[in-house]
Amino acid sequence: MPEAPTPTFPQTGGCQCGAVRYELREAPFGVWACHCNICRKQSGSAFGLSMGVTIDGLVFTAGEPAVWTRETESGHQLDCLFCPGCGSRLIHRRHDHGGRQTLKPGTLDDTSWIAPGRHIFAEQALDWVKPILGE
Ligand SMILES: [Zn+2]
Ligand SMILES: [Zn+2]
Repeated sequence: MPEAPTPTFPQTGGCQCGAVRYELREAPFGVWACHCNICRKQSGSAFGLSMGVTIDGLVFTAGEPAVWTRETESGHQLDCLFCPGCGSRLIHRRHDHGGRQTLKPGTLDDTSWIAPGRHIFAEQALDWVKPILGE
């Protein structure tokens, strides 16, 4: 696979309708794909993609996300931030976040540099995805 380009910061992004906009001001600490059914449901796609970023490193520059909170399977309260207008999911943040959250990196304006460093719940990946994972 070709090497992903090195990004510079800040990077900008936002929801599908453009009402909620943000600036990512520092490099993420990881990108991973999750192949569990919950991430499929959330994303409406084959798997979920998450980018770990600090809460201080991401600033909303337009609009205000709405919040839906759910309990995770491990018993944590997870705030799910989304655009109230178009519904695009933007951020997941646990109540006991420790200064960290995950960004849905497909909402970045430039997605050319996004590549998952690891795959979790790979055993639940769709059959057509498994060869891509080398399973
Ligand atoms: Zn929107
Ligand atoms: Zn998942």
